[in-house]
Amino acid sequence: NSSFHSEDTIAAISTPSGRGGIGIVRLSGPAARTIAEPLLKLRHPLAPAQARFAEILDSTGEVLDEAVVTYFQSPHSYTSEDIVEISAHGSPVLLHHLLRQCLAAGARLAEPGEFTQRAFLSGRLDLTQAEAVHDLIESTTLHQARIAAQQLGGSLSRQITPIKQQLISLIAALEAGIDFAEDDIDLLAQDQISSQITAIEAPLTALEHSFDYGRIVRDGFTMAIVGRPNVGKSSLFNRLVERDRAIVTSTPGTTRDLVTERVSLEGIPLELIDTAGLRVSADEAESIGIAKSREAMSEADVVLLVLDATALPHEEDAAAVATLTGRPFLIVINKQDLEHPESNILKPTLQTIETSALTGSGISELRRAILSLVTKEIPNVETAVLTNHRQQRSVSDALAALNRARQAATAIIPHEMILLDLYEGLHALDAFTGSTTTDDILNLIFSKFCIGK
Ligand code: GDP
Ligand code: ZN
Repeated sequence: NSSFHSEDTIAAISTPSGRGGIGIVRLSGPAARTIAEPLLKLRHPLAPAQARFAEILDSTGEVLDEAVVTYFQSPHSYTSEDIVEISAHGSPVLLHHLLRQCLAAGARLAEPGEFTQRAFLSGRLDLTQAEAVHDLIESTTLHQARIAAQQLGGSLSRQITPIKQQLISLIAALEAGIDFAEDDIDLLAQDQISSQITAIEAPLTALEHSFDYGRIVRDGFTMAIVGRPNVGKSSLFNRLVERDRAIVTSTPGTTRDLVTERVSLEGIPLELIDTAGLRVSADEAESIGIAKSREAMSEADVVLLVLDATALPHEEDAAAVATLTGRPFLIVINKQDLEHPESNILKPTLQTIETSALTGSGISELRRAILSLVTKEIPNVETAVLTNHRQQRSVSDALAALNRARQAATAIIPHEMILLDLYEGLHALDAFTGSTTTDDILNLIFSKFCIGK
Protein backbone atom coordinates (compact mmCIF):
# COMPACT_ATOMS: atom_id res chain seq x y z
CA ASN A 1 0.00 0.00 0.00
CA SER A 2 2.68 2.50 0.95
CA SER A 3 4.03 2.31 -2.58
CA PHE A 4 0.98 4.20 -3.81
CA HIS A 5 1.73 7.52 -5.49
CA SER A 6 -0.81 9.42 -7.51
CA GLU A 7 0.30 11.25 -10.58
CA ASP A 8 -2.36 13.91 -10.52
CA THR A 9 -3.19 16.67 -8.10
CA ILE A 10 -6.77 16.97 -6.89
CA ALA A 11 -8.60 20.06 -5.68
CA ALA A 12 -11.92 20.74 -4.00
CA ILE A 13 -13.74 23.16 -1.76
CA SER A 14 -13.57 21.31 1.55
CA THR A 15 -15.99 23.45 3.52
CA PRO A 16 -19.80 23.09 3.20
CA SER A 17 -21.48 24.83 0.29
CA GLY A 18 -22.99 28.19 1.10
CA ARG A 19 -21.64 31.24 2.84
CA GLY A 20 -19.45 31.02 5.90
CA GLY A 21 -16.85 32.92 7.85
CA ILE A 22 -14.14 30.78 6.34
CA GLY A 23 -14.01 28.62 3.23
CA ILE A 24 -11.21 26.22 2.38
CA VAL A 25 -9.88 25.10 -0.97
CA ARG A 26 -7.71 22.04 -0.60
CA LEU A 27 -5.15 20.68 -3.04
CA SER A 28 -3.44 17.31 -2.74
CA GLY A 29 -0.85 15.76 -5.00
CA PRO A 30 2.63 16.30 -6.39
CA ALA A 31 1.79 19.66 -7.99
CA ALA A 32 -0.17 21.11 -5.06
CA ARG A 33 2.46 23.74 -4.36
CA THR A 34 3.27 24.70 -7.93
CA ILE A 35 -0.43 25.10 -8.70
CA ALA A 36 -1.23 27.15 -5.59
CA GLU A 37 1.74 29.50 -5.43
CA PRO A 38 1.05 31.58 -8.58
CA LEU A 39 -2.50 32.25 -7.33
CA LEU A 40 -1.20 33.77 -4.12
CA LYS A 41 0.83 36.77 -3.14
CA LEU A 42 2.80 35.39 -0.22
CA ARG A 43 4.79 37.58 2.14
CA HIS A 44 6.92 34.61 3.15
CA PRO A 45 7.44 31.42 1.16
CA LEU A 46 5.40 28.34 2.11
CA ALA A 47 7.04 26.14 4.71
CA PRO A 48 5.94 22.69 5.92
CA ALA A 49 3.22 22.71 8.61
CA GLN A 50 3.24 26.48 8.90
CA ALA A 51 0.45 28.91 8.24
CA ARG A 52 1.25 31.78 5.92
CA PHE A 53 -0.62 34.98 5.28
CA ALA A 54 -1.39 35.56 1.58
CA GLU A 55 -3.43 37.68 -0.74
CA ILE A 56 -5.49 35.92 -3.37
CA LEU A 57 -5.04 37.34 -6.83
CA ASP A 58 -7.40 37.21 -9.77
CA SER A 59 -6.15 36.46 -13.29
CA THR A 60 -5.11 40.09 -13.85
CA GLY A 61 -3.16 40.21 -10.63
CA GLU A 62 -5.74 42.22 -8.67
CA VAL A 63 -6.21 41.32 -4.98
CA LEU A 64 -9.48 39.46 -4.34
CA ASP A 65 -9.18 38.37 -0.72
CA GLU A 66 -6.82 37.72 2.11
CA ALA A 67 -6.20 34.15 3.16
CA VAL A 68 -4.24 31.90 5.44
CA VAL A 69 -2.37 29.21 3.54
CA THR A 70 -1.03 26.03 5.09
CA TYR A 71 1.36 23.68 3.37
CA PHE A 72 1.83 20.08 4.48
CA GLN A 73 4.82 18.37 2.97
CA SER A 74 4.63 14.75 1.88
CA PRO A 75 4.50 12.36 3.71
CA HIS A 76 3.40 14.40 6.74
CA SER A 77 -0.12 15.19 5.60
CA TYR A 78 -3.63 13.77 5.67
CA THR A 79 -3.18 12.06 2.30
CA SER A 80 0.59 11.50 2.66
CA GLU A 81 0.95 13.72 -0.41
CA ASP A 82 1.82 17.40 -0.63
CA ILE A 83 -1.23 19.35 0.52
CA VAL A 84 -1.97 23.05 0.29
CA GLU A 85 -4.98 24.42 2.13
CA ILE A 86 -6.14 27.91 1.32
CA SER A 87 -8.45 29.32 4.00
CA ALA A 88 -10.18 32.31 2.51
CA HIS A 89 -13.39 34.06 3.42
CA GLY A 90 -16.34 31.76 2.90
CA SER A 91 -17.86 33.34 -0.17
CA PRO A 92 -19.04 30.79 -2.72
CA VAL A 93 -18.14 33.12 -5.59
CA LEU A 94 -14.60 33.57 -4.34
CA LEU A 95 -14.08 29.89 -3.52
CA HIS A 96 -15.36 28.75 -6.90
CA HIS A 97 -13.11 31.28 -8.60
CA LEU A 98 -10.16 29.93 -6.64
CA LEU A 99 -11.08 26.35 -7.46
CA ARG A 100 -11.45 27.17 -11.18
CA GLN A 101 -7.99 28.70 -11.16
CA CYS A 102 -6.57 25.56 -9.56
CA LEU A 103 -8.26 23.43 -12.24
CA ALA A 104 -7.02 25.72 -15.01
CA ALA A 105 -3.51 25.33 -13.63
CA GLY A 106 -3.69 21.55 -13.95
CA ALA A 107 -5.49 20.22 -10.88
CA ARG A 108 -8.36 17.78 -11.26
CA LEU A 109 -11.64 18.16 -9.36
CA ALA A 110 -11.59 15.66 -6.49
CA GLU A 111 -14.15 12.85 -6.42
CA PRO A 112 -16.25 12.43 -3.25
CA GLY A 113 -14.04 11.11 -0.48
CA GLU A 114 -10.94 11.13 -2.68
CA PHE A 115 -8.71 12.84 -0.12
CA THR A 116 -9.56 10.12 2.40
CA GLN A 117 -9.22 7.46 -0.29
CA ARG A 118 -5.68 8.69 -0.93
CA ALA A 119 -4.97 8.57 2.79
CA PHE A 120 -6.16 4.95 2.73
CA LEU A 121 -4.25 4.01 -0.44
CA SER A 122 -1.04 5.46 0.92
CA GLY A 123 -1.46 3.35 4.07
CA ARG A 124 -1.99 6.34 6.38
CA LEU A 125 -5.42 5.03 7.38
CA ASP A 126 -6.84 1.55 7.20
CA LEU A 127 -10.34 0.99 5.90
CA THR A 128 -12.02 1.08 9.31
CA GLN A 129 -10.34 4.43 9.99
CA ALA A 130 -11.40 5.80 6.63
CA GLU A 131 -14.97 4.74 7.42
CA ALA A 132 -14.66 6.49 10.76
CA VAL A 133 -13.89 9.78 8.98
CA HIS A 134 -17.24 9.46 7.26
CA ASP A 135 -19.03 8.46 10.46
CA LEU A 136 -17.51 11.37 12.33
CA ILE A 137 -18.70 13.85 9.73
CA GLU A 138 -22.14 12.27 9.62
CA SER A 139 -22.55 11.87 13.36
CA THR A 140 -25.66 13.46 14.81
CA THR A 141 -24.92 12.95 18.49
CA LEU A 142 -21.75 13.45 20.54
CA HIS A 143 -21.86 9.78 21.48
CA GLN A 144 -21.65 8.79 17.81
CA ALA A 145 -18.82 11.25 17.33
CA ARG A 146 -16.89 9.70 20.23
CA ILE A 147 -17.20 6.17 18.85
CA ALA A 148 -16.14 7.39 15.40
CA ALA A 149 -13.17 9.23 16.89
CA GLN A 150 -12.07 6.07 18.71
CA GLN A 151 -12.25 4.14 15.47
CA LEU A 152 -10.40 6.88 13.62
CA GLY A 153 -7.71 6.55 16.27
CA GLY A 154 -7.32 2.93 15.24
CA SER A 155 -9.27 1.12 17.96
CA LEU A 156 -10.56 -1.54 15.56
CA SER A 157 -7.22 -2.05 13.87
CA ARG A 158 -5.51 -2.45 17.24
CA GLN A 159 -8.09 -5.03 18.21
CA ILE A 160 -7.75 -7.04 15.04
CA THR A 161 -3.95 -7.03 14.70
CA PRO A 162 -3.09 -9.47 17.53
CA ILE A 163 -5.92 -11.79 16.41
CA LYS A 164 -4.49 -11.83 12.91
CA GLN A 165 -1.01 -12.44 14.29
CA GLN A 166 -2.24 -15.49 16.21
CA LEU A 167 -3.89 -16.84 13.09
CA ILE A 168 -0.75 -16.29 11.05
CA SER A 169 1.40 -18.18 13.58
CA LEU A 170 -1.04 -21.08 13.54
CA ILE A 171 -0.92 -21.13 9.76
CA ALA A 172 2.87 -20.97 9.86
CA ALA A 173 3.02 -23.88 12.31
CA LEU A 174 0.78 -25.98 10.10
CA GLU A 175 2.66 -25.03 6.98
CA ALA A 176 5.90 -26.03 8.69
CA GLY A 177 4.34 -29.31 9.68
CA ILE A 178 3.46 -29.97 6.10
CA ASP A 179 6.64 -28.79 4.48
CA PHE A 180 8.79 -30.83 6.80
CA ALA A 181 6.45 -33.77 7.22
CA GLU A 182 9.25 -36.05 6.09
CA ASP A 183 11.55 -34.72 8.79
CA ASP A 184 11.00 -35.13 12.49
CA ILE A 185 9.14 -31.86 13.14
CA ASP A 186 6.00 -32.87 15.02
CA LEU A 187 2.68 -32.27 13.44
CA LEU A 188 0.53 -30.22 15.79
CA ALA A 189 -1.79 -32.50 17.65
CA GLN A 190 -5.40 -32.22 16.48
CA ASP A 191 -6.70 -30.97 19.83
CA GLN A 192 -3.91 -28.43 20.04
CA ILE A 193 -5.01 -27.06 16.68
CA SER A 194 -8.64 -26.87 17.79
CA SER A 195 -7.80 -25.12 21.03
CA GLN A 196 -5.69 -22.56 19.17
CA ILE A 197 -8.54 -21.91 16.79
CA THR A 198 -10.91 -21.49 19.73
CA ALA A 199 -8.54 -18.95 21.25
CA ILE A 200 -8.65 -16.95 18.03
CA GLU A 201 -12.44 -17.23 17.77
CA ALA A 202 -13.16 -15.87 21.26
CA PRO A 203 -12.10 -12.23 20.76
CA LEU A 204 -13.57 -12.26 17.26
CA THR A 205 -16.93 -13.37 18.62
CA ALA A 206 -16.82 -10.54 21.16
CA LEU A 207 -16.02 -8.15 18.36
CA GLU A 208 -18.89 -9.48 16.28
CA HIS A 209 -21.28 -8.90 19.18
CA SER A 210 -20.10 -5.33 19.54
CA PHE A 211 -22.09 -4.63 16.37
CA ASP A 212 -25.29 -4.95 18.42
CA TYR A 213 -24.14 -1.80 20.11
CA GLY A 214 -22.43 -0.23 17.10
CA ARG A 215 -25.63 -0.46 15.11
CA ILE A 216 -27.54 1.25 17.88
CA VAL A 217 -24.96 4.01 18.19
CA ARG A 218 -25.10 4.52 14.46
CA ASP A 219 -28.79 4.15 13.66
CA GLY A 220 -30.32 4.44 17.11
CA PHE A 221 -33.23 2.51 18.54
CA THR A 222 -36.67 2.47 17.06
CA MET A 223 -39.54 2.76 19.49
CA ALA A 224 -43.12 2.16 18.41
CA ILE A 225 -45.87 3.80 20.43
CA VAL A 226 -48.87 1.49 20.36
CA GLY A 227 -52.21 1.22 22.10
CA ARG A 228 -55.92 1.53 21.53
CA PRO A 229 -57.31 4.61 19.77
CA ASN A 230 -57.61 7.82 21.78
CA VAL A 231 -55.43 6.75 24.70
CA GLY A 232 -53.01 9.61 23.98
CA LYS A 233 -50.27 8.01 21.80
CA SER A 234 -49.89 11.04 19.54
CA SER A 235 -49.95 13.40 22.51
CA LEU A 236 -47.15 11.42 24.19
CA PHE A 237 -45.23 11.29 20.92
CA ASN A 238 -45.43 15.07 20.70
CA ARG A 239 -44.35 15.40 24.32
CA LEU A 240 -41.32 13.23 23.64
CA VAL A 241 -40.29 15.09 20.50
CA GLU A 242 -41.24 18.39 22.16
CA ARG A 243 -43.04 19.53 19.04
CA ASP A 244 -46.52 19.28 17.59
CA ARG A 245 -45.73 16.80 14.92
CA ALA A 246 -48.39 14.10 15.12
CA ILE A 247 -52.02 15.08 14.73
CA VAL A 248 -53.95 14.92 17.96
CA THR A 249 -57.72 14.77 17.78
CA SER A 250 -60.56 13.54 19.91
CA THR A 251 -61.88 11.35 17.09
CA PRO A 252 -60.45 7.88 17.49
CA GLY A 253 -58.31 6.54 14.65
CA THR A 254 -56.82 9.67 13.06
CA THR A 255 -53.16 8.72 12.87
CA ARG A 256 -53.48 6.48 9.84
CA ASP A 257 -49.98 6.69 8.58
CA LEU A 258 -46.94 6.11 10.70
CA VAL A 259 -45.38 9.35 11.88
CA THR A 260 -41.72 9.09 12.77
CA GLU A 261 -39.32 11.50 14.40
CA ARG A 262 -35.76 11.23 15.64
CA VAL A 263 -34.89 12.36 19.13
CA SER A 264 -31.70 12.05 21.16
CA LEU A 265 -31.89 10.50 24.62
CA GLU A 266 -28.61 11.46 26.26
CA GLY A 267 -26.76 10.99 23.03
CA ILE A 268 -28.53 7.81 21.98
CA PRO A 269 -30.58 8.39 18.85
CA LEU A 270 -34.13 7.16 19.14
CA GLU A 271 -36.59 6.95 16.29
CA LEU A 272 -40.10 7.34 17.61
CA ILE A 273 -42.95 5.86 15.63
CA ASP A 274 -46.49 7.00 16.29
CA THR A 275 -48.92 4.37 15.12
CA ALA A 276 -52.58 4.32 14.24
CA GLY A 277 -53.62 2.12 17.09
CA LEU A 278 -54.42 -1.53 17.26
CA ARG A 279 -58.20 -1.48 17.05
CA VAL A 280 -60.01 -3.69 14.57
CA SER A 281 -61.62 -1.40 12.02
CA ALA A 282 -64.08 -1.55 9.15
CA ASP A 283 -62.63 1.58 7.52
CA GLU A 284 -60.23 0.52 4.78
CA ALA A 285 -57.71 3.35 5.19
CA GLU A 286 -57.71 2.80 8.90
CA SER A 287 -57.22 -0.94 8.46
CA ILE A 288 -54.09 -0.21 6.44
CA GLY A 289 -52.93 2.05 9.24
CA ILE A 290 -53.58 -0.70 11.78
CA ALA A 291 -51.67 -3.24 9.71
CA LYS A 292 -48.78 -0.78 9.59
CA SER A 293 -48.93 -0.36 13.37
CA ARG A 294 -48.71 -4.08 13.91
CA GLU A 295 -45.74 -4.23 11.59
CA ALA A 296 -44.05 -1.31 13.36
CA MET A 297 -44.75 -2.98 16.67
CA SER A 298 -43.16 -6.24 15.60
CA GLU A 299 -40.12 -4.57 14.03
CA ALA A 300 -39.34 -1.89 16.60
CA ASP A 301 -36.45 -2.39 19.03
CA VAL A 302 -38.62 -1.31 21.92
CA VAL A 303 -42.36 -0.77 22.30
CA LEU A 304 -44.31 1.71 24.37
CA LEU A 305 -47.80 0.40 25.11
CA VAL A 306 -50.12 3.22 26.10
CA LEU A 307 -53.26 2.69 28.18
CA ASP A 308 -55.95 5.15 29.23
CA ALA A 309 -56.24 5.42 33.03
CA THR A 310 -59.93 6.25 32.76
CA ALA A 311 -60.82 3.31 30.54
CA LEU A 312 -61.94 -0.10 31.62
CA PRO A 313 -59.58 -3.05 31.22
CA HIS A 314 -59.63 -4.22 27.64
CA GLU A 315 -58.77 -7.57 26.11
CA GLU A 316 -56.80 -5.92 23.28
CA ASP A 317 -54.36 -4.54 25.85
CA ALA A 318 -53.97 -7.91 27.49
CA ALA A 319 -53.36 -9.41 24.04
CA ALA A 320 -50.75 -6.74 23.27
CA VAL A 321 -48.95 -7.50 26.55
CA ALA A 322 -48.97 -11.17 25.67
CA THR A 323 -47.31 -10.58 22.29
CA LEU A 324 -44.76 -8.22 23.85
CA THR A 325 -43.68 -10.54 26.62
CA GLY A 326 -40.04 -11.42 26.27
CA ARG A 327 -39.27 -8.24 24.35
CA PRO A 328 -38.24 -4.86 25.73
CA PHE A 329 -41.38 -2.82 26.30
CA LEU A 330 -42.88 -0.28 28.68
CA ILE A 331 -46.45 0.29 29.76
CA VAL A 332 -47.65 3.83 30.17
CA ILE A 333 -50.92 4.67 31.87
CA ASN A 334 -51.86 8.04 30.49
CA LYS A 335 -54.51 10.65 31.38
CA GLN A 336 -53.61 10.62 35.07
CA ASP A 337 -54.99 14.16 35.31
CA LEU A 338 -58.51 12.81 34.90
CA GLU A 339 -60.64 11.08 37.51
CA HIS A 340 -59.73 7.39 37.36
CA PRO A 341 -59.95 4.20 39.42
CA GLU A 342 -56.96 3.36 41.65
CA SER A 343 -56.48 -0.22 40.56
CA ASN A 344 -53.90 -1.21 38.00
CA ILE A 345 -55.57 -1.78 34.70
CA LEU A 346 -53.40 -4.74 33.84
CA LYS A 347 -51.71 -7.35 35.99
CA PRO A 348 -50.30 -5.62 39.06
CA THR A 349 -46.97 -7.38 38.50
CA LEU A 350 -46.25 -5.31 35.41
CA GLN A 351 -44.32 -2.16 36.07
CA THR A 352 -46.04 0.89 34.68
CA ILE A 353 -45.33 4.60 34.28
CA GLU A 354 -48.07 7.09 34.99
CA THR A 355 -48.27 10.12 32.76
CA SER A 356 -50.43 12.94 31.65
CA ALA A 357 -49.63 14.03 28.14
CA LEU A 358 -51.96 16.97 28.79
CA THR A 359 -50.13 18.43 31.82
CA GLY A 360 -46.72 16.92 31.13
CA SER A 361 -46.56 15.11 34.46
CA GLY A 362 -44.59 11.87 34.39
CA ILE A 363 -42.89 12.70 31.08
CA SER A 364 -39.39 13.03 32.53
CA GLU A 365 -39.91 9.73 34.39
CA LEU A 366 -40.98 8.23 31.08
CA ARG A 367 -37.82 9.51 29.37
CA ARG A 368 -35.69 8.00 32.13
CA ALA A 369 -37.52 4.68 31.89
CA ILE A 370 -37.02 4.58 28.12
CA LEU A 371 -33.34 5.38 28.50
CA SER A 372 -32.78 2.69 31.09
CA LEU A 373 -34.71 0.21 28.95
CA VAL A 374 -32.61 0.91 25.86
CA THR A 375 -29.29 1.05 27.72
CA LYS A 376 -30.11 -2.33 29.23
CA GLU A 377 -30.10 -3.55 25.63
CA ILE A 378 -26.62 -2.13 25.13
CA PRO A 379 -23.90 -4.71 25.73
CA ASN A 380 -20.83 -3.74 27.71
CA VAL A 381 -18.14 -2.60 25.34
CA GLU A 382 -15.15 -0.62 26.50
CA THR A 383 -13.01 -0.40 23.43
CA ALA A 384 -13.63 -1.27 19.85
CA VAL A 385 -17.08 -1.34 18.31
CA LEU A 386 -18.06 -2.50 14.83
CA THR A 387 -20.11 0.27 13.28
CA ASN A 388 -21.25 -0.99 9.90
CA HIS A 389 -22.44 -4.05 8.03
CA ARG A 390 -19.29 -4.36 5.97
CA GLN A 391 -17.15 -4.71 9.08
CA GLN A 392 -19.62 -7.10 10.63
CA ARG A 393 -19.67 -9.26 7.51
CA SER A 394 -15.87 -9.55 7.39
CA VAL A 395 -15.74 -10.63 11.01
CA SER A 396 -18.53 -13.17 10.62
CA ASP A 397 -16.90 -14.51 7.43
CA ALA A 398 -13.70 -14.99 9.40
CA LEU A 399 -15.60 -16.75 12.18
CA ALA A 400 -17.37 -19.06 9.75
CA ALA A 401 -14.06 -20.06 8.18
CA LEU A 402 -12.46 -20.64 11.59
CA ASN A 403 -15.41 -22.74 12.63
CA ARG A 404 -14.97 -24.93 9.54
CA ALA A 405 -11.26 -25.21 10.26
CA ARG A 406 -11.93 -26.27 13.84
CA GLN A 407 -14.37 -28.92 12.70
CA ALA A 408 -11.90 -30.17 10.14
CA ALA A 409 -9.27 -30.34 12.87
CA THR A 410 -11.43 -32.59 15.04
CA ALA A 411 -11.97 -34.99 12.17
CA ILE A 412 -9.00 -36.81 10.73
CA ILE A 413 -8.43 -34.48 7.86
CA PRO A 414 -5.08 -33.57 6.37
CA HIS A 415 -3.65 -30.26 7.45
CA GLU A 416 -3.89 -28.96 3.90
CA MET A 417 -7.68 -28.92 4.30
CA ILE A 418 -7.57 -27.09 7.62
CA LEU A 419 -5.18 -24.62 6.08
CA LEU A 420 -7.60 -23.76 3.30
CA ASP A 421 -10.16 -22.59 5.85
CA LEU A 422 -7.57 -20.79 7.95
CA TYR A 423 -6.39 -18.88 4.89
CA GLU A 424 -9.96 -17.97 4.16
CA GLY A 425 -10.33 -16.64 7.69
CA LEU A 426 -7.17 -14.61 7.27
CA HIS A 427 -8.45 -13.25 3.99
CA ALA A 428 -11.65 -12.09 5.70
CA LEU A 429 -9.63 -10.27 8.36
CA ASP A 430 -7.55 -8.62 5.64
CA ALA A 431 -10.73 -7.47 3.97
CA PHE A 432 -11.83 -6.05 7.29
CA THR A 433 -8.91 -3.63 7.47
CA GLY A 434 -8.97 -3.13 3.73
CA SER A 435 -5.67 -4.68 2.78
CA THR A 436 -7.37 -6.98 0.28
CA THR A 437 -10.51 -5.08 -0.60
CA THR A 438 -11.51 -4.87 -4.23
CA ASP A 439 -11.71 -1.56 -6.08
CA ASP A 440 -15.47 -1.92 -6.49
CA ILE A 441 -16.02 -2.08 -2.76
CA LEU A 442 -13.59 0.76 -2.15
CA ASN A 443 -15.32 2.96 -4.71
CA LEU A 444 -18.65 2.22 -3.09
CA ILE A 445 -17.37 3.16 0.34
CA PHE A 446 -15.67 6.39 -0.71
CA SER A 447 -18.48 7.53 -2.97
CA LYS A 448 -20.61 8.01 0.14
CA PHE A 449 -18.27 10.76 1.32
CA CYS A 450 -18.83 14.38 0.49
CA ILE A 451 -16.54 16.11 -1.99
CA GLY A 452 -13.55 17.74 -0.36
CA LYS A 453 -13.11 15.08 2.31
P1 GDP B 1 -54.16 8.58 20.14
O1 GDP B 1 -55.33 8.24 19.30
O2 GDP B 1 -53.82 7.45 21.04
O3 GDP B 1 -52.98 9.03 19.35
O4 GDP B 1 -54.60 9.77 21.11
P2 GDP B 1 -54.36 11.34 20.93
O5 GDP B 1 -52.99 11.71 21.35
O6 GDP B 1 -54.80 11.75 19.57
O7 GDP B 1 -55.35 11.89 22.05
C1 GDP B 1 -56.73 11.60 22.03
C2 GDP B 1 -57.46 12.59 22.90
O8 GDP B 1 -57.07 12.44 24.26
C3 GDP B 1 -57.18 14.04 22.55
O9 GDP B 1 -58.32 14.79 22.71
C4 GDP B 1 -56.12 14.45 23.57
O10 GDP B 1 -56.12 15.81 23.83
C5 GDP B 1 -56.56 13.66 24.77
N1 GDP B 1 -55.46 13.34 25.67
C6 GDP B 1 -54.28 12.78 25.38
N2 GDP B 1 -53.52 12.62 26.48
C7 GDP B 1 -54.25 13.12 27.52
C8 GDP B 1 -54.02 13.25 28.94
O11 GDP B 1 -52.98 12.86 29.50
N3 GDP B 1 -55.02 13.80 29.68
C9 GDP B 1 -56.19 14.21 29.12
N4 GDP B 1 -57.09 14.74 29.90
N5 GDP B 1 -56.43 14.10 27.79
C10 GDP B 1 -55.49 13.58 27.01
ZN1 ZN C 1 -52.77 9.26 17.39
